[in-house]
Amino acid sequence: MEKRDIFIGGAWPYANYYLHVGHLAALLPGDILAKYFRGKGDNVIYVSGSDCHGTPITERARKENVSPKEIATHYHDEFVKTFDKLGFEYDEYSSTMSEHHIKYVEDQFKKIIDNGYIYEKEELQDYCESCNTFLSDREIDGVCPHCGGKSTGDQCEVCGDSLDSSEVLDKHCKKCGSKTVMKENKHLYFQLTAFEKQLQELINENKNKWRKNALGEAQKYIDMGLVDRAATRQLEWGVPVPVKGYEDKRIYVWIEAVLGYLSVGEEVAEKRGIDFDKFMSNNNPNLKTYYVHGKDNIPFHTTIYPAIISAMKNNYKLPDYIVSSAYVNLNNEKMSKSKGNLITANELLEMFDSDTLRFYFSFKGPETNDMNCSLSDIIQTHNKFLVGMLGNFVNRNLSFINKKFAGEIQEGKIDETIKEATIKSYKLIGEFFERGELRNAVTQIFEYIAMANKYYDSQKPWIQVKEDIESFNDTTYTCTYMIANMANMIAPVLPNASKKIKEILNLPKYKWEEETLQGNYKIQNLQMLYNRIDEKNVLNMSEDFQIETKKKSR
Ligand SMILES: [Zn+2]
Ligand SMILES: [Zn+2]
Repeated sequence: MEKRDIFIGGAWPYANYYLHVGHLAALLPGDILAKYFRGKGDNVIYVSGSDCHGTPITERARKENVSPKEIATHYHDEFVKTFDKLGFEYDEYSSTMSEHHIKYVEDQFKKIIDNGYIYEKEELQDYCESCNTFLSDREIDGVCPHCGGKSTGDQCEVCGDSLDSSEVLDKHCKKCGSKTVMKENKHLYFQLTAFEKQLQELINENKNKWRKNALGEAQKYIDMGLVDRAATRQLEWGVPVPVKGYEDKRIYVWIEAVLGYLSVGEEVAEKRGIDFDKFMSNNNPNLKTYYVHGKDNIPFHTTIYPAIISAMKNNYKLPDYIVSSAYVNLNNEKMSKSKGNLITANELLEMFDSDTLRFYFSFKGPETNDMNCSLSDIIQTHNKFLVGMLGNFVNRNLSFINKKFAGEIQEGKIDETIKEATIKSYKLIGEFFERGELRNAVTQIFEYIAMANKYYDSQKPWIQVKEDIESFNDTTYTCTYMIANMANMIAPVLPNASKKIKEILNLPKYKWEEETLQGNYKIQNLQMLYNRIDEKNVLNMSEDFQIETKKKSR
């Protein structure tokens, strides 16, 4: 089969806190898809990076009296380490601070201006005459018109209402305390409204490819009525606006961060000698694109990003598959930093093998609905499926051979029905993966493993070995064949176990295709794939880290 071009964009985590469980669940499908397609031999470009600009990082930097770059760099480095521990293999994980990205965004921004989709608009904005600068909402201290409490320019700190800065009373500059004045300020606006018809068509065309929540959210966004959006912001931290007279402003993060897919994609393509314009082209019949993110990111990927691509007029393909997850709750509660119950990926990695987490969050992931996560559910799922089904099948077969035959597996006949079922499984699981239906794919993988265990039980090799050695060899060889094929099928989701099996049986590198086996095999360094987890041990640890989390969260 001809190699396909696969573009996978994983959402860019915002660099002002550690990766948490919600990120893990939302981003994992991207890595699983990348591994699957690479196993098929397709030409995969899988990219992401850290979203490093914008107001929250700027604000926090001011409070902690460090530079925004220090904060962003700290979390970016943490993200890289965590993704690595989770077994993610991006072709490139970059950041919006990279020179290439900044240059790319400036170039595309100019192009969008030239194409007529960005215009200038003057509006009244709060200004501090002693600091000589316009103030963003969060740089303002004021009084809430609803409750009289202390507020910023966009939110009351007492009643929590979100406010428009024009209604906030008694406004002062946060930095110097001076009273603010209103002054005309010019901003650039992106003409999102120009793409309404096209975006509606995009939704209609992708009814079968986008997840339900993506279709729903995108439609809701359009039905509410699109509005043109400010493309510049009064900030010092971000990508400079390539227009004269805008030196005191930066490109708004919503326009800049989504362009990261293309800036990093282009970088990867260049390194491989691929023409990125041709790769991403609408005229490339071999291209499939996947965008993988959480629910709160849906409008950016289903409306804003496609509108920006259209405005660039590069003839790039608009998103094919939107793999958008719902939310993860913890013990039936919403997670949040302020509640102190936000579990980070690092904390989970201290308790569990990355395979355990990858399995749990793909098998039970928030694919169609919010998922409820609990430590005891992770443990039970691990024990039941990874230990009880996968680990058990591999171990009961190979340790028997190890004991009775010094690890020598004799060539035998592979059962025809099993062979057929194996080939069919690759096809079925692959189709689920390609539609972004990971829960179905993983369920199918474990149906294959269940079938293997059933086959073993019905053949009773422990009796065959005494009565009919030829049948025993056939059974064992058929089971070895299934183990070898499991090593391929699980590779996208459970890369550690896949590698272990391949080492034990000295099998060729993972590919998404039938492993046919040849001749005899010798078991080497047999080890358990997974150990049973004792719930008590982990739950004690979790009580400790709950306290830790509370101490750490700022
Ligand atoms: Zn209030
Ligand atoms: Zn001031």
